[in-house]
Parts: sequence; structure tokens; C-alpha cells
Amino acid sequence: ATPIAVMVATGRGAQLGIFLKGYQTLDTSRMVDTIVFDKTGTVTEGSLSVSQVLATDGFDADEILGLAAAVEAASEHAVGAAIAGAVDEQHHLEVADFVAEAGRGVTGVVDGRTVTVGSPRWARRASVIPADIARARKQAEERGDTVVYVTVDGTPAAMIAVADTIKDSAAPAIAGLKAAGLRTILLTGDNEGAARTVAAEVGVDEVIAEVLPDEKVETIRRLQDEGHSVGMVGDGINDGPALATADLGLAIGRGTDVAIGAADVILVRDDLRSVPAALSLAGATQRTIR
Ligand code: ADP
Ligand code: MG
Repeated sequence: ATPIAVMVATGRGAQLGIFLKGYQTLDTSRMVDTIVFDKTGTVTEGSLSVSQVLATDGFDADEILGLAAAVEAASEHAVGAAIAGAVDEQHHLEVADFVAEAGRGVTGVVDGRTVTVGSPRWARRASVIPADIARARKQAEERGDTVVYVTVDGTPAAMIAVADTIKDSAAPAIAGLKAAGLRTILLTGDNEGAARTVAAEVGVDEVIAEVLPDEKVETIRRLQDEGHSVGMVGDGINDGPALATADLGLAIGRGTDVAIGAADVILVRDDLRSVPAALSLAGATQRTIR
């Protein structure tokens, strides 16, 4: 892009709530044919809250929520924050040997008992899940909730469902991208069921779910190897490497410093319509200046 094109685009972008970090961004934006969206905090608000706790036989739902909240108090994950926030902080029990595993869950020792809270896929390795818990999980995921399993000393103790809200700007943003001929993909570490529900509600055609944090980067690379020029929209620490790998990284302005640092474009307003706006800004600038 010419210096004048950059100046024009920068000014127009500022009006639209779009901050372009570098001058190459305009050229890259014109090439992008595929937009990959992170789910939690990007397509959804990312302010999660516990919607259901179902304990297995022999366990008490309130007690298990208390144990889970105690372990999650040290977590930096949105799911963890929701669970920790479900119990008054002054009632949090003491936790020893806290370990967080990215994309999987957390473990800690509370009152001499080892408590894990994590994705069903992760918890399932250790134990057989009772049928009623598995059924409740399926129903919750079809609502679009994230489900975690709690185990106590290796025994399944409860499922906890966590609900989020989809951003109002998501559906119009996706519609705008599709109208411009772009392919849209939802990429998430969350479960397949919730991801499909959210994708259907906002009109995203493809879903890649249950990916571990480093698999997000591999997904972007695979699309690039297939000849696509990829834009990635994300907010989380986990999204940083994928935003940096994508041809065009777009970070939610309210997102983490890691995401903002790794991106080429910052969506200053928390409005996903800025994504199609940023792409058409690049196209319009080229047409005006030539
Ligand atoms: P996302 O793409 O939604 O940011 P992550 O890769 O961070 O997903 O996490 C994937 C899944 O791992 C979550 O949906 C959840 O099931 C599980 N998980 C991750 N961290 C935690 C945690 N602190 N507590 C419970 N579950 C967790
Ligand atoms: Mg996110």
C-alpha cells in the first residue's frame, strides 16, 4: 500500500473501531479467503456462569461445587473463574499441589482428597462415567454449554455445566463475511456439541472442536498448506500463537495482552462487525487510491 493509502485507511479504521498495526496489513487483508474464529470470548461474551451441577450417587452437589471452586480459585481459565465465582470467596477451602493443564483442566488436593476438574475427554481417561451424568452432559452441550467433570480421588463425582452468551454482533458479522465470499470456521478447545450449537446460531459453516492449544496453530498451518490465506480472530492467551501464524491476526480489544500483542489488527470495539469492516476497508482503500 502507498503511504497515502495507509493514512486514509488508518483514519477510516479509527472511525470504525479498527486499529491496524502495520502498513502490510492492508495488502494481506485483501488476500484473506478464510476467517477462523475462536469461540469463547470471541464469538461469545466470555462471561461464563454455572448453569447446572449434577452429582453422582454418594456425592452432594453443593459439596462438590465447593471442592471444584476451591481448586479453580487458582485457575486463569474462564471456565475456572465461573466455577470459582459460584462459591463465595471467603468460603473457599484451602488447596495444595495445584496443577493446571492447558486445554484440559486442573487438579488440587483439598482436605486430603485429590480433586480434578476438567474436560470430559480428559476426565474420561481415568474413570467410567455414570449414564445419567453422560446424558446430562449431552443435553447441556446441545444447549451450547461447556461441561466439565469433577473427580474425587479418581471417582466421578459430578458434572458442572457453564453457560455463556453469544455476542449480538456475531451473526451479522458472519453474514457480512459470507456475503463477501469468505469461508468461516469456528475453532475451539471446547466440546463438539456446544461448538456446533454456537456455530449454527451465528451461521458459521464449519466447526473444528476439542483442539488442544497447540493444535490451533496446526489447524491454521494446515489451511495455509491447502492454499488458503487465513484470518484468525481471537482473544485468549491460547490464541496468541494462532494469531501470529495466521496471515492476518485480529484480536478482540478487550482480550488478553498476549492476543493483542500477536495480532495485526485490533478490534477496539467489542463488535465483530469490525471484522468484515476491516476487510472491506482494505479493499476500498485500494480502489480509492489506485
Ligand atoms: P477454548 O478454546 O474454549 O479457550 P481451552 O483450550 O482453553 O478452550 O480449554 C478446552 C477445554 O478444557 C475447556 O472447554 C474445558 O473443558 C477444559 N478446561 C480448560 N481449563 C479448565 C479449567 N481451569 N477448569 C476446567 N476445565 C478446563
Ligand atoms: Mg477465547
